[in-house]
Amino acid sequence: MNDNFNEDFWWEAIDEYVVSEIMEFESNLNDYYSHLQILFIDEHDVENENSGGMRFHKSVSFDNVDELESYIGSEEVKKWKSDFKNLSSEQKSIQHETALYVSNENGYEFLTSLILTKINFMETLSVDCDECWDSVLFFDSTPIDNDDDWVRVCNNCK
Ligand SMILES: [Zn+2]
Repeated sequence: MNDNFNEDFWWEAIDEYVVSEIMEFESNLNDYYSHLQILFIDEHDVENENSGGMRFHKSVSFDNVDELESYIGSEEVKKWKSDFKNLSSEQKSIQHETALYVSNENGYEFLTSLILTKINFMETLSVDCDECWDSVLFFDSTPIDNDDDWVRVCNNCK
């Protein structure tokens, strides 16, 4: 079944899942950078392209993918390790990856994954300016609180 699924559809669905999650909880982006997030989905939801069936399973740092072995198996863990081994620490610090695994009678099978970088987040996330309350993209605003990426001012109020 995994041979003829629409990968673009699932990349878009993952992107939407991650971004809306971050927006809703005003999540700390440092919890995303250098982290691999695993989502599960049932086989029939893949067949019906029901992205609402995606559910959060676990998020681990790139250095701790071993923690996923009991779910996705040692071969998958090996694959992730070799992927992340090739990243510089600079790259790791601005990169997030979300992988989608299909739950079926054989356990969990890899379907696809999406990498999102700091640039993707800056161009997608928005917040209300702390001064004038206009909605601005992260890209077009400046954080004014070192501990909180979500307190920002627009370029006019800077
Ligand atoms: Zn403003």
